[in-house]
Amino acid sequence: MHQHVLHDILHQLQRAAHDADRSVPRLLAVSKTQDETAVANLALQGQTAFGENYVQEALAKRAATAATAAAGHALEWHLIGHLQSNKAAEAATLFDWVHTVDRAKLVTALARHRASQPQRPPLNVLIQVNIDDEASKHGCAPAEVAALAAAIAAEPALRLRGVMVIPTPHADPEQRRPAFVRAKTLFDALAVQYGAGVDTLSMGMSDDFAIAIAEGATMVRIGTALFGARARPAAG
Ligand SMILES: *Cc1c(COP(=O)(O)O)cnc(C)c1O
Repeated sequence: MHQHVLHDILHQLQRAAHDADRSVPRLLAVSKTQDETAVANLALQGQTAFGENYVQEALAKRAATAATAAAGHALEWHLIGHLQSNKAAEAATLFDWVHTVDRAKLVTALARHRASQPQRPPLNVLIQVNIDDEASKHGCAPAEVAALAAAIAAEPALRLRGVMVIPTPHADPEQRRPAFVRAKTLFDALAVQYGAGVDTLSMGMSDDFAIAIAEGATMVRIGTALFGARARPAAG
């Protein structure tokens, strides 16, 4: 991965934000299936936030990049894949952020395991919303967001930061815009209720980040555009 790719993506984020009169979002580099060298290369260029879909894969990568982190390039790990409750203990140890909290049981499990590590800051969590009401998708229903937010806010070991969505992957990214707009409405309602600590709307990937930014994304999750096409599917 060459130096200009990260620079290029950051420039595209700035441009999309400028064009839509929005703030420039944070870049989450989605490193699933990429090896630790790719992560280390990006970290050396100043990228700090990395997204992984699977607990086991992240565990190996976090260990393999410990030297990079120790050299002063502190890395921040985000879980962006579905989390099974029986992996909550590992997730609460390994990650700084979990984007995929979508049920009360997970809130309780993550809080309990994070609370058992009192030396660490609270775990940052986003509520994943099934914004297109897809039967096959994870995420809570929009109507369940308020109750889930209250449950998270009641846990001192968790920090409610906002909302994450993955719209239906229509071939034409423009078709995803209404889902981004609905996500922004949900996010704004949470921010009104819980205040400035709710600051993160995670939406937009390689092929639709400009649209997501125009509709208010504060964090975009980008893999392919940074690292190239994934050679193999992510394995759990
Ligand atoms: C893989 C993945 C991404 C990155 O997708 P690209 O199209 O490669 O940018 C973003 N979000 C989630 C939840 C993912 O699983």
